[in-house]
Amino acid sequence: MIIFLDLDGTLTNTTHPYFKKMKDGIDTTDVSLIRKYVFPGALNFIKEQISKNNKIYIVSDSHPRYVEPISKQIFNLPFLSLADKPNDKKTRNFINSNPELSTAFQNKDNFIFVGDSWLDVVLGRLLNIRTVLTKFYKTYVKEIRDGIGDDWKPMKEGPTYYAKDFQEVSNIIANPLKNLLALEAVFQGVESSKAVKFKFQKHSTGFTAFRCLARQEDGECDKYARADQYFQIDNPNRSIDFLEKLALSVSNYLQKVEAQDNFQWDYLSYVSDKKTTTPPQKMEQIFKLITSNISKVKLFHWDLNVEGSLRHQPNYKARREFIAKYLSTDSSYDLNNKNIIVIDDQFTSSATAYEIATQLRSRGAKNILFVALFYLILPLSNKICPNCGKKMQIKINRKKGNKFYSCTPPKYRGEGCGNIINIYNEH
Ligand SMILES: [Zn+2]
Repeated sequence: MIIFLDLDGTLTNTTHPYFKKMKDGIDTTDVSLIRKYVFPGALNFIKEQISKNNKIYIVSDSHPRYVEPISKQIFNLPFLSLADKPNDKKTRNFINSNPELSTAFQNKDNFIFVGDSWLDVVLGRLLNIRTVLTKFYKTYVKEIRDGIGDDWKPMKEGPTYYAKDFQEVSNIIANPLKNLLALEAVFQGVESSKAVKFKFQKHSTGFTAFRCLARQEDGECDKYARADQYFQIDNPNRSIDFLEKLALSVSNYLQKVEAQDNFQWDYLSYVSDKKTTTPPQKMEQIFKLITSNISKVKLFHWDLNVEGSLRHQPNYKARREFIAKYLSTDSSYDLNNKNIIVIDDQFTSSATAYEIATQLRSRGAKNILFVALFYLILPLSNKICPNCGKKMQIKINRKKGNKFYSCTPPKYRGEGCGNIINIYNEH
């Protein structure tokens, strides 16, 4: 494996503005001072990886006057400075100018990018390699460019993995498939109980937590994100094997949830399908295949007279109102003091989840756990149209699941020339 490691905030605890003049090459870098800020486990991690024949490169946005002495004297590693993240041009040139890297790059699975900022995640996505988002330090100030202190930003960019310490990074590198998100793992033939920990809200009586089992990519990404499978949910010809895979990923995740004995979960439910949904009972079918010891119930009902669709509501407020009007919680269940898990197919604007949580809490529910199969990550494209020079978008054929670059013409609300380039599907 080739490991690209970010420097500041990943190897060294140096995101504080105090270090800025050194990073910019204005002040002379005080190596003996920086040495004191190396994260615990960093040097051992490097030693361990090198002993396993993995190769590590530091990839940093900082000035060579800062990156070079640190890389050489503290870590003894090759480096790329002034990387200009999240643009991938310099990193690609760096790869192409090194025969060992460029040969390895023919298989993207040979690479992994480890960093603490959304810039690292986006750069990794543009290179189509897997990314590990690290959280090795506490942040007190929000930094606009790096998004440091803002947990949402990097999460929405969709890192492949998350790590709290170097031990976890080592584990990911040693078992890259088993550490994928639960649903992404199932499609590699592996079982995992990992989920994205989206949000956790504490209330006076309990909490509402949001978890997600796979990334639905829009544009450039590593090959493990599964937008292609998300679109299969709506396919009337979806196979039972496909539904079983989705259900298995939920079962795998729930196994871990049930094993935590701080509290018992009383009900397992799902966001029901409307009568008009195609294919009919698309969530119910998946729900029935889920294996769990928690009591499975149908808690939610759509009004039979529901008009229009949630997808066509213009904004968050309209979505919430739509759900409040047409979706109701079954009154025959006593929900007082109950802990409830709700499965949904996708977490986007979160309007459904928040509205359902409001209804459940008004009925006295205590802890609520939302598990979405997919969440949409932020769009990302770097492809320039060879015909007209405009930026192309990556689109997906909803029926076949294959991807293509589109220089979207005005007919489809774009500004491009209509050029289409097919992308070989790595899945
Ligand atoms: Zn074009």
